[in-house]
Amino acid sequence: MQIRKPRYFDEFTCLASACPDSCCKEWDVLIDPQSAEFYRSLPGDLGQRLRQVLTEEAGQTFMLIEEGRCPMWRKDGLCRIQAELGHDALCKTCRDFPRLTHDYGEFTELGLELSCPEAARLILSRETEDFPFPVLSDCEDYDREDMLLLLQTRREALALLDRKDFSVPQALSLLLLYGYHAQSLLDGEALENFSPEEALKTAKSLAKTGSTQEIRTFFLSLEVLTPGWKQRLTAPSCPGAWSDKYRLLAKYFIMRYWLQTISDFDLVGRVKLGITLCLLIRELGGDLVQTAQLCSKEIENNTENVDALLDAAYTCPALTDDKLLGLLT
Ligand code: SF4
Repeated sequence: MQIRKPRYFDEFTCLASACPDSCCKEWDVLIDPQSAEFYRSLPGDLGQRLRQVLTEEAGQTFMLIEEGRCPMWRKDGLCRIQAELGHDALCKTCRDFPRLTHDYGEFTELGLELSCPEAARLILSRETEDFPFPVLSDCEDYDREDMLLLLQTRREALALLDRKDFSVPQALSLLLLYGYHAQSLLDGEALENFSPEEALKTAKSLAKTGSTQEIRTFFLSLEVLTPGWKQRLTAPSCPGAWSDKYRLLAKYFIMRYWLQTISDFDLVGRVKLGITLCLLIRELGGDLVQTAQLCSKEIENNTENVDALLDAAYTCPALTDDKLLGLLT
């Protein structure tokens, strides 16, 4: 198995009781079957408490939050299971978070989730590198040529974001148009080489007035986890400057989603997802790392919200290509 991970992956250390947010808030925790069985078998006060708080839903076991917190959360900010039984006793969800694993059969890519404050700090302060191409033989799950094309186009998309002769909004406009170019290649169309200079002219000619308020209204229509997120969407601070950190943010979305296209061939939807989230995070203002972390917690950690955003790339009037380009021009 070929495993690839960003350099900052091994730098991550959980902030535990010093965490400004905590993954023990707001989320119900999915408990893997092995841990659920172990927890239910425990003696004493901890076992009794765990049996009280474990709930079955649709054939899966969850630890449901109580008063906004995981019932195992202690007032000193530590996890009761970890404190009493050690790290190995944590369920898979808690052991893994915020580590991401993308298994593509012959190779696996690891990453960190932006929804953790410490991971967000690392993601937005470290250079994102592409990985060497994996060695691919025939894989049952996908066509080798399609995966090679996705790997190649991902590399080119990352390189576009590195072009400092283009401003950040220009680089994001180019990313949108390059997404269409790569989608066409994936769909089997023979195309001429992508010219960023020509694409910028196209972006300018296509751009129409867009509305960040319409975008916020769309996000208010999605499932909202925390009152803080609703408040930010309703009354944003002043939009932040387009700093180079947005290049890192866009690269994070590319590294997380680009290759997932192999499952359904929807590359444009994923590119628009990343661009829309960059626009939204800037629009909401405040500290970029904190805003990006909250946004990721609300959107990326909710499969229904991610699916809704992928659909909206084609159906939401606020997210048409010309309006997104207008907001980036
Ligand atoms: S959100 Fe991240 S830093 Fe905070 S407690 Fe969870 S894993 Fe640790």
